[in-house]
Amino acid sequence: MGSGIYVHMFRDGDVVPMDASVVREVLEPHAPYDVPDDEPVEWVRAADGSDAEVHTGDGVYFDRPGPGVLDVIAELARRTGAAILLPSEPTAIVSGEEGLRHLPEGLRAQAVVVPPAVLTGQAIAQVLRPRPEPRQRPMLPPFPYHPDPVATGSIVAADETCGCCGHDQGWIYTGPVHGEDVPDGRLCPYCIAYGTAAERHGVFFNEAEARRMPAEAARLIRERTPGFATWQDWGWPAHCGDAAEFRGVVGVKELAPHPDALDRLRRRCAEWGWASGATEDFLTALDKDGQPTAYLFRCRACATHLAEADFT
Ligand SMILES: [Zn+2]
Ligand SMILES: [Zn+2]
Repeated sequence: MGSGIYVHMFRDGDVVPMDASVVREVLEPHAPYDVPDDEPVEWVRAADGSDAEVHTGDGVYFDRPGPGVLDVIAELARRTGAAILLPSEPTAIVSGEEGLRHLPEGLRAQAVVVPPAVLTGQAIAQVLRPRPEPRQRPMLPPFPYHPDPVATGSIVAADETCGCCGHDQGWIYTGPVHGEDVPDGRLCPYCIAYGTAAERHGVFFNEAEARRMPAEAARLIRERTPGFATWQDWGWPAHCGDAAEFRGVVGVKELAPHPDALDRLRRRCAEWGWASGATEDFLTALDKDGQPTAYLFRCRACATHLAEADFT
């Protein structure tokens, strides 16, 4: 079928001839020449100057129609109730459900139904316009202490220029950036992972105290690990001689499968001198989307879950 568009009349799945007088009525006003009475219209030129060769047989074929000619095609389909067959998927446009019912079964699944009142050249152009392929995004760099920053929402797919390297890397960091020389614009994960943002701008992303964990772990967490918004400052937790990995913001529902993490929170509440009733009320109120919120971590060595919370 090439790059052309067919207008075809269907009845119960079969092609039927179109009413030649209606076809002529629609096309002749757009013919830029005198059409002999005994010949079909073979060329149309639309108001915008675009044109197309026309071949009439069982249906009407428009070869490489320009934008204005799409209006002529739409008018022909509206006036006759015929289907518009396209060179690529979706393969057909029909005016109304009735038109869909008469299409051959093979065409029906790929057809677009446009109500006659809005079946215009512009509507055809919108269906024809190729949809952009989803962008292929590069692999994220590894973050040992925040292994899935896409799941936690700290890094999102975005077509956005990084405020540090100036490149659109396909991903952008949404979490907090601390420091005196915070760059304008959000950062890409590569400038975080490779320490570029920390070196160039002296920024850091998390609080981590070296007295709880190896100095190298604390440095990686501060300077090369995506952060996340918290309401209060609390130290990054450690276990088995290493810093734990961040698993996400959680509420009481998400903590339920991790009694080890809940027990740790209970101990923290006890350290604060809370009565057990107040502690249980607090734990029940934990909400991943609101206040108070908890933060789930996991030991990288023994897989014990740990939780921190904003003790409001
Ligand atoms: Zn960057
Ligand atoms: Zn452990």
